[in-house]
Amino acid sequence: MMLNERRKIFKKLAVITGTFGAFLFGLTRKSKSQESPLKRYGMAIDLRKCCGCQACAVACKSEFNVRLGGYRSWVNEAEKGKFPITNRFFLPRLCNHCETPGCTRVCPTKASYIREDGIVMVDKDQCIGCRYCMQACPYGARYFNWLDDKTTDKARAFGTVDKCDFCFHRVTNGVVPSCVNTCPARARIFGDLNDTESEISKFIGKNAAQTLMPEFGTKPHVYYVGADESVMLGSPKGGN
Ligand code: SF4
Ligand code: SF4
Repeated sequence: MMLNERRKIFKKLAVITGTFGAFLFGLTRKSKSQESPLKRYGMAIDLRKCCGCQACAVACKSEFNVRLGGYRSWVNEAEKGKFPITNRFFLPRLCNHCETPGCTRVCPTKASYIREDGIVMVDKDQCIGCRYCMQACPYGARYFNWLDDKTTDKARAFGTVDKCDFCFHRVTNGVVPSCVNTCPARARIFGDLNDTESEISKFIGKNAAQTLMPEFGTKPHVYYVGADESVMLGSPKGGN
């Protein structure tokens, strides 16, 4: 066979192999992305285990140096019955990291926004302290941080809005939120709701999980199991 003819055949083979390879590569990439979709973080709280010790609320205060009178995380309490036959119920509270929240919609500077992984954030450098988001949140999950915020470089004498951010500085480094880590009853489960094999997905799947005030259509990503209605009606306490 002539050298030129061989070259032509090799060229054709290279084109065919390259096209086939690119096709296979495309398939591989597609199947890989289907295996690992975007994360959607959420929390489940097993109220059958919660003993109302408030360790979660204290851990949160300590993690973020939350001022007196302000709360990123707190525990509602309710008592039922008549002395001496009474029962106490607890409902740990935090931002629900809603899928369709009012807080992000009303924010005029886009300081309140939703990350791709579902965590609802407040960018303190963008927050002008108008507090529209506090009005728009039906859960009272936000408070106003009057004190100058030490976590940003900019001195802000007037303050900014603050709330639970699922400890994203820990989560993005592979560590669970401080409240989850601290809970002595192991009542809190944090994880990826998009992963059907995660502990939280299995827990929600197996138990009758509820969210707070579903009638608002905010689609919360904090789930409760074993709640008593008396405590579900508890008042918000984000702060002012
Ligand atoms: Fe926004 Fe309130 Fe929902 Fe948190 S609980 S995402 S602050 S509406
Ligand atoms: Fe309940 Fe755990 Fe919080 Fe204690 S730390 S109040 S047991 S959720």
